[in-house]
Amino acid sequence: RSKDQGGGVHYGYEPSLHARAEERRVMELALRKALERGEFHLNYQPVVRATDGVIEGFEALLRWTNKDLGPVSPAKFIPIAEDTRLIGAIGEWVLRTACHQAMLWPDHVRIAVNVSAEQLFQPTFVGSVVSALSHSGLPPSRLELEVTESVFINDFGVCTATLEQLLALGVSLSLDDFGTGYSSLGYLRKTQFSTIKIDRSFVQGAARQAPESLAIIRAVVALADALGMSTTAEGAETEAEVAMICELGCKKIQGFYFGRPMPGDDATELFAQHLPGDETQILREAG
Ligand code: C2E
Ligand code: MG
Ligand code: MG
Ligand code: MG
Repeated sequence: RSKDQGGGVHYGYEPSLHARAEERRVMELALRKALERGEFHLNYQPVVRATDGVIEGFEALLRWTNKDLGPVSPAKFIPIAEDTRLIGAIGEWVLRTACHQAMLWPDHVRIAVNVSAEQLFQPTFVGSVVSALSHSGLPPSRLELEVTESVFINDFGVCTATLEQLLALGVSLSLDDFGTGYSSLGYLRKTQFSTIKIDRSFVQGAARQAPESLAIIRAVVALADALGMSTTAEGAETEAEVAMICELGCKKIQGFYFGRPMPGDDATELFAQHLPGDETQILREAG
């Protein structure tokens, strides 16, 4: 495949492959220093009750800004953090920071934290959840851990055992990006998820009246209902998407329509005007 082979043939994709490998190498080096340099922060995106827009919780979303690379998308750096196992230490920082932040919000507001398969399989993971809870004082019932179907692909036994330990702590689990993975549904019998999060691609499809997306969302909502789980529709941006999601019976909505991921202080500010017990709503004008 090298251009030395076959008398100087130059393949068109070679420079871009090389550029990508180089970009990755530079990113990995920077990522190794990012924690100690304080280059991470979390943004928080509201998750609202579908019927009335009341804020049920926030999802913590990791952000990385490096002085040379600028802001780097999680879609780019999370896979590198996973491959290099840096995700372990980074994930612990995310847990601690998110739990502390949630302590500044009213008691009923929950915080969701994403957990990679790579993290879940580290033997120290359950301990790091215990420590994040005890250091912050956050009740376990307010912490929700989001995993994707991919965690079940490798070692089903280890994975379900770890998830059981987490449930025993009193934290809840949600199944992220549902419908985009390759795993079977068998694990839904084994693990009690509180919420199934329906991937944005289905939400967009449903709003376009795509029959497959409509059928899939209906089936997932029915499945979740039957299993005693809730549903969150991810990535609702338009009024049409929100209307369709409500019609299909999803319980919760998370998307730009109700709020973009925002700094912790802005999230705290949303509650500032409200008395305890008074529920904070995100209402949007029609049109
Ligand atoms: P995710 O967990 O499925 O998070 C939802 C993603 O959808 C976020 O992207 C969010 O900004 C985006 N989103 C929410 N509403 C809308 C919408 O209405 N329209 C559109 N176009 N996008 C919307 P983000 O923040 O770029 O994160 C991407 C992924 O990176 C996350 O997907 C999650 O898998 C991963 N990630 C983020 N933070 C962490 C973390 O702390 N730990 C781990 N392990 N993974 C993380
Ligand atoms: Mg998530
Ligand atoms: Mg998701
Ligand atoms: Mg996603």
